[in-house]
Amino acid sequence: MTGLIIEGKTASWEVICGLEIHCQIISKSKMFSGASTHYGSDANENVSFVDAGMPGMLPTLNEHCVYQAVKTGLGLNAKINKYSAFARKNYFYADLPQGYQISQFQYPIVGEGHVTVDLSDGSTKDIGIERLHIEQDAGKSIHDMAPDKSFIDLNRAGVGLMEIVTKPDFRSPEEAGAFLRKLRSIVRYLGTCDGNMDEGSMRCDVNVSVRKVGEEGYRTRCEMKNVNSVKFVMQAIENEAKRHVEVYENGGNIEQETRQFDPSTGLTKVMRKKEFAHDYRYFPEPDLLPLVLDDDYIAKVKADMVELPDAKRARFVKELGLTAYDASVICENKETADFFEKAAQGHDAKKVANWLMGDFFAMLNEKKVELKDSPVSAENLGKLVELITSNVINGKTAKDVFAIMAETGGDPEKIVEEKGLKQVTDMGAIEAIVDEVIASAPDNVAAYKAGKNNLLGWFVGQVMKKSQGKANPAIVNKMIAEKLN
Ligand code: MN
Repeated sequence: MTGLIIEGKTASWEVICGLEIHCQIISKSKMFSGASTHYGSDANENVSFVDAGMPGMLPTLNEHCVYQAVKTGLGLNAKINKYSAFARKNYFYADLPQGYQISQFQYPIVGEGHVTVDLSDGSTKDIGIERLHIEQDAGKSIHDMAPDKSFIDLNRAGVGLMEIVTKPDFRSPEEAGAFLRKLRSIVRYLGTCDGNMDEGSMRCDVNVSVRKVGEEGYRTRCEMKNVNSVKFVMQAIENEAKRHVEVYENGGNIEQETRQFDPSTGLTKVMRKKEFAHDYRYFPEPDLLPLVLDDDYIAKVKADMVELPDAKRARFVKELGLTAYDASVICENKETADFFEKAAQGHDAKKVANWLMGDFFAMLNEKKVELKDSPVSAENLGKLVELITSNVINGKTAKDVFAIMAETGGDPEKIVEEKGLKQVTDMGAIEAIVDEVIASAPDNVAAYKAGKNNLLGWFVGQVMKKSQGKANPAIVNKMIAEKLN
């Protein structure tokens, strides 16, 4: 059980929460125009007449955005609707030049699905997906550049969005946090959204209500718009739920309203009373035909799917013997999982995982570099582990070798060779061969001890032969002399 129960004076209360997440679709051009979606361009650089809402301009649906939405729907284990339709959502705002947003209302492209989240107590929970629909983004109003003016940047106007609506299945901040991390992981694996909440490419609206434990149905909810980090979403849920409990416990009532989350205090304050859906005067978009998909198209998208984090994690546990925890850490992002798999190829996977999650991640942190810029390649990490597994070097030497690899990007086998590390740690192996040679030639041992000193060369030769030339002759010489004397 990971539900959050808030104890009031008169009752125990449970938290009810649902999320609506706007995910910016990864696509070179916008959803209904050919303008670029490039992030970081100068203001109003990427604006076509369609995006600017010029009279007579007609939208043309970007097929790639449809593809991305279907792919995401499949990743959410959801039903793909072969028939969907666009609708106009009407509202007036300076950064919405058309005076309406092209969205989907009655007929979304993706229907019900579910996402399995992993919780801190080791359990999992399925969170229901209500729907996913596609729509265009609005522009951006800038109010803080001049005291008496507001500016409008339409670069974002018309960029494709997927709005994902969950069922009110969350019973704690932790469950919502786990879901957002899992959703981000899934869209990143799929390459359908980059999932950066701080850059606004994934924006979360949080709906919260509470009810007495055992109570049926739902009470009035409040919505917090555009909460921009996982941590803030969790804080918003907890504090908003506590506010509801306090209001109810003091005999008051919660009104349906939109509230703003303040990251500096962690609290929410009222923004405006909830607009109800009919305020938007939705009606079918007359400039676009309904979107009709067939089975072949959906099968084609399915064929392009990569292995998703849950499946990958299960495989790492089953085939490579990782613990569930290690596998989930490694599989959270695809780059790490791919790096691990490459490094573990042909080597002891558990040891590779330990090195990856220990010294390797610590090294990246310390150097403040991303995985793709790591000086230590996957192959070299695998080789290092192999040197340990095959007893060429011990764990302590491995740490020294790793430090050199992190500085030079070098190959651990070469480093071990060049620094003579192998020979030093190989003493045990040399000794075994020396003992074997001595035991096999009692006559020569007796002759040597009787004063035939030049037999030392014969012993050294035998050991060198047996070690296929890998032993250091100086060490062998010294060792034999010590053993025989
Ligand atoms: Mn929306």
